[in-house]
Amino acid sequence: MNKLSVGKVQVYTGNGKGKTTAALGLVLRAAGARMRVYFGQFMKTGNTSEARALREFLSGAVTMEQYGSGEELSGPDRERDTACARAGYEKARAALGSGEYDLVVLDEILVAEHLGLLVVEDLLRLMDERPERTELVFTGRWAAEAVCQRADLVTEMGEIKHYFHAGVPARTGIEM
Ligand code: ATP
Ligand code: MG
Repeated sequence: MNKLSVGKVQVYTGNGKGKTTAALGLVLRAAGARMRVYFGQFMKTGNTSEARALREFLSGAVTMEQYGSGEELSGPDRERDTACARAGYEKARAALGSGEYDLVVLDEILVAEHLGLLVVEDLLRLMDERPERTELVFTGRWAAEAVCQRADLVTEMGEIKHYFHAGVPARTGIEM
């Protein structure tokens, strides 16, 4: 039984910090409402703090899967990275279509599309196939125009200032 009477499509994009964090905030809120949550992460692998928290503290409420090779940005391999993204896409599509989830978050899917690991039609297909009462969230920089046009909500995190440019790398617990 779906918790939502109506589901929407949300996009969190832009260059500023907060896209994945916002999606995780929504995951937390939905879990508190006893919604069934699926969190799929493109281009990431391994023990990020959010993966650990979801697995250790929220495994009863949230199904979490990572689809990345982990080297998409540091040492890209087109064939391998496309295969990972495609396999992930099919998992995400099955989860969305199963009707078993009230909230489906696909973190960094917009980046996977921007890099050409997925094509824009893949994302539009997910939006078309979304069960009416499932909320679908895409995150990542560089959202495609066609995706934004079809979404119900688009939030752009604008970078006014970021310590990354002052040489502060991603920190465990804050960025990863
Ligand atoms: P968060 O996960 O903190 O909510 P986000 O999802 O909005 O951030 P992403 O684009 O997914 O942001 O990833 C940001 C990561 O990339 C950070 O780990 C940061 O260290 C790094 N990074 C590289 N360049 C930049 C930049 N120009 N602005 C912000 N972060 C950057
Ligand atoms: Mg992110």
